[in-house]
Amino acid sequence: MQNSIEQKICPECGAPEQEGLDCWGQLGGLISWEYDDPDLLAEHFKTVACYNMQHPAMFQDNALEGLKQVFIEHLDNNLPISEIRKRMGKANEGTNRVLKKEHEREMVLRNWPMTIDKVYIPGQPEGAAQRVRDWAKSIRSEL
Ligand SMILES: [Zn+2]
Repeated sequence: MQNSIEQKICPECGAPEQEGLDCWGQLGGLISWEYDDPDLLAEHFKTVACYNMQHPAMFQDNALEGLKQVFIEHLDNNLPISEIRKRMGKANEGTNRVLKKEHEREMVLRNWPMTIDKVYIPGQPEGAAQRVRDWAKSIRSEL
């Protein structure tokens, strides 16, 4: 077909680009809505955790494992954000490194029931907090 637009797909989570925004750009869009939406702001940990869980290549194994544990406890047992901060802070201080060096990162495409393109819908901030909660639930079911 002539002039067909090839849709770019994220090599890690499989989400399509939207309006020229890759996943990172879509995350930025979603976070920019937090200023006007206290409900969404309250889910900030989930937003970032969901993004990170679906883009694990950049993280050291132990950092990812720590994130997974607090994510699960937050969803299953309502682990409060203050406690999450405390634990993550402790885990990330000292000699621990959180991010892998660029050349150590290996992206592996994985299929998820829901990705950021279903959460960040350009021009539709209404209901974003609920979409984040659904996103988190869908990821939890895959762990
Ligand atoms: Zn992605």
